[in-house]
Amino acid sequence: MMILLYIAELFLFFILFTFVVYWTHRAAHKFAFLWYLHSSHHAQRYKGEFEFSWLNLIGWFNDWRATADQWVTEILPLCVMLYIWPDAWPIAVLYYVDGFVLAEGITDHNPRIDIPGLAMGRYHLKHHQDHSVNYDQYFRLWDTVFGTRRDVV
Ligand SMILES: [Zn+2]
Ligand SMILES: [Zn+2]
Repeated sequence: MMILLYIAELFLFFILFTFVVYWTHRAAHKFAFLWYLHSSHHAQRYKGEFEFSWLNLIGWFNDWRATADQWVTEILPLCVMLYIWPDAWPIAVLYYVDGFVLAEGITDHNPRIDIPGLAMGRYHLKHHQDHSVNYDQYFRLWDTVFGTRRDVV
């Protein structure tokens, strides 16, 4: 029973994290300094192939602005949340696998991927074309709630 409660706690923590990251991403499109950092991510030309870089594994993404963007909008908020809620440390492991290994070069910018409910692949690439939609990083939940969801048809 305790283990089920703990899994529910982790799930709640993760959903809260997706909420925080949805809003830090929107903030990155709204505030000049954050956009200065985040626009570097949008300036990348993804060719649709696997573009994995070993540097991602140490938290370096393309250039210093894109790297600072990821640290400010995702990694530091996660560190703050884990400082408050240290029991949820397994989410840091999941985040590492997704954020440092998969997202940048394998899943998020791959036009062959479109999984209903998930925000990776074509769904995220739509955000690269239209900066007013598809801010979600994991599920299409907060885009749905806040009216910024555009599924690719
Ligand atoms: Zn963006
Ligand atoms: Zn992207």
